[in-house]
Amino acid sequence: MRSSKTLYEGKAKRIIAGPKKNTLIQIFKDDATAYNKKKHKIFKGKGILNNFISGFIMEHLKSKKVPTHFLKRINDREQLIKKCEIIPIEFVVRNIIAGSIAKKLNLKEGSIIKQPLLEYYYKDDSLDDPMISRDHIITFGWATKSELNKIDKISLQINKVLKSLFLKKGIILVDFKIEFGRLSSNPKQIVLADEISPDSCRLWDKKSKEKLDKDVFRRNLGSLLGAYEEVASRLGIVH
Ligand code: C5P
Repeated sequence: MRSSKTLYEGKAKRIIAGPKKNTLIQIFKDDATAYNKKKHKIFKGKGILNNFISGFIMEHLKSKKVPTHFLKRINDREQLIKKCEIIPIEFVVRNIIAGSIAKKLNLKEGSIIKQPLLEYYYKDDSLDDPMISRDHIITFGWATKSELNKIDKISLQINKVLKSLFLKKGIILVDFKIEFGRLSSNPKQIVLADEISPDSCRLWDKKSKEKLDKDVFRRNLGSLLGAYEEVASRLGIVH
């Protein structure tokens, strides 16, 4: 019998022990939150869609030699993953101006950024995930310079692979957030962790610029499940 004891619970996922040493099971929930949980709603089936979409993306990245924590999708809501120690930083890659950068720097949403822009945010809800610099990360020991160099390189590689994947499906990858961890079985190895889904990316239809991501919920733009379904369907995911 497997233990269903929650080891960690986030806003959209829950983690329980895996069947073997150094494995975990990541369970996708239906909760959608925005503005640091000030807005919260349950969308029945969102967790299933994100499990399939994120699993598909992780497989695709693996096929392009990106190191990830992903082992396999177990069922509708669960993924088997490699256990790792999460680095407490949110890495954001931007291709187009939108969201917080538009607001913070008074930039026009939709403007193209000449080359991908990498930002770092310290993962702490009580501080509203403040933006930080590379020096903060190194000075406070959240990651070493060599780890950061590796992560920057992998983040830009992920951006390249996913931009191309989505563009083939008529979708623009505006920006996304990723997280990394050190494998418990070999802490020297950095892997992509967490998830990549419409919860953590901005995705716009190439022609209409219609939003196909969590902004639909953040800004009350229509059907969140409809948007996520559209992403799954364009990626050819049957769920
Ligand atoms: O809000 P902001 O514009 O900084 O978000 C950039 C990208 O990172 C968006 O795709 C957003 O969905 C994602 N993000 C996230 N989790 C956060 C903050 C941002 O997935 N806590």
